[in-house]
Amino acid sequence: MTHTRVLIIGSGPAGLTAAIYSARAQLSPIVIEGEPSSTSDQPGGQLMLTTDIENFPGFPEAISGPELMTRMRAQAERFGADLRVSKVQRLDASSRPFRAWLSGDDEPSITADTVILATGARSLMLNVPGEDRLLSHGLSTCATCDGFFFRGHDIAVVGGGDSAMEEALFLTRFATSVTIIHRRDSLRASRIMQDRALNHEKIKFAWNSQVTEVLGDSSVSGLRLRDTVTGEDRVLDVTGVFVAIGHVPNTSIVDGTGVEMDPNGYVISGPGSHTAIDGIFAAGDVQDHEYRQAITSAGSGCMAAMDAERWLESREF
Ligand code: NAP
Repeated sequence: MTHTRVLIIGSGPAGLTAAIYSARAQLSPIVIEGEPSSTSDQPGGQLMLTTDIENFPGFPEAISGPELMTRMRAQAERFGADLRVSKVQRLDASSRPFRAWLSGDDEPSITADTVILATGARSLMLNVPGEDRLLSHGLSTCATCDGFFFRGHDIAVVGGGDSAMEEALFLTRFATSVTIIHRRDSLRASRIMQDRALNHEKIKFAWNSQVTEVLGDSSVSGLRLRDTVTGEDRVLDVTGVFVAIGHVPNTSIVDGTGVEMDPNGYVISGPGSHTAIDGIFAAGDVQDHEYRQAITSAGSGCMAAMDAERWLESREF
């Protein structure tokens, strides 16, 4: 059993920024990074599945998501954070210190005076027939990971937000054509991303269209679409589809712990990063459904580390 003053769960920008600050404050944090096999909470978080980041201050020429996370990780390690590739499968917040079970543990292997939840969020799925069966067989949630396989294909991206535009633009490097399927007739994405997509010669739009089925036996052969205005059905012939319709927070480990969540499952935090349980703090996308940017996530990780440090000082552990 290892005891730590600060246990950080998650290693996206929130978790790693919290790690940098806690480590510099001599609190020797342990960071449970996630597991590489997982699509929802892999080490480095969602930025590992992102292409160029053009809006993180300090990188005027843009930086790739994986490169940014590699740098944050190195910075956390430089100050002595203990980073461990594993998952917290259970958290007991009913007594002090808090207790955590990692993957494969029958007994808790870490006790902690404070916990910073930075478990992030994962992709929403369409929940239509064919989706589960064809996941990784032409259906993907990560253009950076899988785009290369669609060289010369006609493919689709579902969604109308920044993620969908970003995925579609990236996929034009490989695909012959990319059809963005959106359930309305106007996009949610920021103006700059909209303009890039709308003006790209390889990108087409299927407006007012909802995917009702992913077609194909062993790999994607098309999508059944329903017109959200007329109700008519049609088939779009594509051999690949990327789902980019938003995210849900990764909160299963705090279910039943007393940490409060909103109706959509996001951890409620505040003032600052304090949750409903004294000594448990939250940072990043697990508590933010509004901004969800790398920079806001990193900022909230800083807040959580400072809140945890002050909380520890006030308790004189
Ligand atoms: P988002 O902004 O919530 O957009 C989700 C999109 O998917 C919306 O257009 C939504 O349609 C659609 N959608 C949701 N559920 C659907 C369903 N069941 N079937 C069909 N369509 C569905 O999510 P996001 O694009 O992942 O972006 C999340 C946040 O990250 C945003 O704040 C965004 O600005 C940020 N982000 C920024 C960048 C960047 O700056 N480069 C890149 C990626 C993400 P409606 O519009 O009809 O609701």
